[in-house]
Amino acid sequence: MQHLLEKAQQTHSLTRDEICALLRTTDPQPLFQTADQVRKKYVGNGVYLRGLIEFSSYCKNDCMYCGLRRSNRRAQRYRLTPEQIVDTARQAAELGYKTVVLQSGEDAWFSTDTLCPIIREIKKLDVAITLSMGEKTREAYAAYRAAGADRYLLRIETTDKNLYEKLDPGMSFDNRVRCLHDLKELGYEVGSGSLVGLPGQTPESLADDLLFFKNLPVDMAGIGPFIPHPHTPLGGETTDGHFELALKMMAIMRLLLPDSNIPATTAMETLHPQGRLLALQCGANVVMPNVTATIYRKQYELYPGKVCTGDSATSCRGCMQAKIESIGRFVSPGKGFHGDYLKNR
Ligand code: SAH
Repeated sequence: MQHLLEKAQQTHSLTRDEICALLRTTDPQPLFQTADQVRKKYVGNGVYLRGLIEFSSYCKNDCMYCGLRRSNRRAQRYRLTPEQIVDTARQAAELGYKTVVLQSGEDAWFSTDTLCPIIREIKKLDVAITLSMGEKTREAYAAYRAAGADRYLLRIETTDKNLYEKLDPGMSFDNRVRCLHDLKELGYEVGSGSLVGLPGQTPESLADDLLFFKNLPVDMAGIGPFIPHPHTPLGGETTDGHFELALKMMAIMRLLLPDSNIPATTAMETLHPQGRLLALQCGANVVMPNVTATIYRKQYELYPGKVCTGDSATSCRGCMQAKIESIGRFVSPGKGFHGDYLKNR
């Protein structure tokens, strides 16, 4: 294993079999330490904070793993008004966030004509804008980009086409890939990522996910452990091993794409009380604290037990900064585009 880590540290490339070997290791500490060193060398000790606004829990899709799926009749649905979205973004900017992330289910209420003015208003706050609203047409992506959106986050979830189409009924894997290519061509910084621990997933398919991110290449990849939601068809599945496997995926991602932005995901904190801090020490350099009004947070229930749903935007900002400083890191002041650290060095 040591020789694999040395190879990855020098060349930032690994074969599918080599990635599988790292994913299967029963002693992941050397992998985690190597990822931490590579993170420090390529993106430094700064951590970028992105303020997450969950603006609608309506979704037309029916993904088997997601609590927002349309067949989940018990899900509580809410939709912020355009004014509320812009106000929340303003609060985020006042709290010092340099990026806001607008995330939602696939909610047709938000047409391009509704979204573009929201993007233009938020842009006046001098923040970078990340969108995460699912699959749209190329024209829609182009319109958001022209309105001022900088980044788009669309996880591939799994690159196993059969598994993807089984778990996301009615959706097409090829269309999701088309979206990622369109976003790149339109000049977005592109974030993708995977769910880790889905039933039917194998080390081979996870290795393919990482090679997919490397080949695109993505600017960012969010790797989250799958957490079964009781009101979905996958509600009876386990979370056993998902946390460690997600950390391994994240660490290998850092080796393969050394200067990329990698978030310590909220789902990691849900499975482990120190999940995000551990992730920051295994390759991650981004955290996305929630800035959504507390009353709506519980209703954006992708999975159960989501952390910080009772907290305010102000307390999440302060709490996260203190945690980051407790491990000898600091909150980066910039907007945190891919490669900024190398440019500023
Ligand atoms: N509609 C948008 C945003 C989806 S929600 C889109 O399609 O991109 C953001 C992410 O939550 C998803 O990409 C998925 O990876 C994650 N997610 C959904 N259900 C989950 C679960 N049960 N456990 C962990 N993460 C989940």
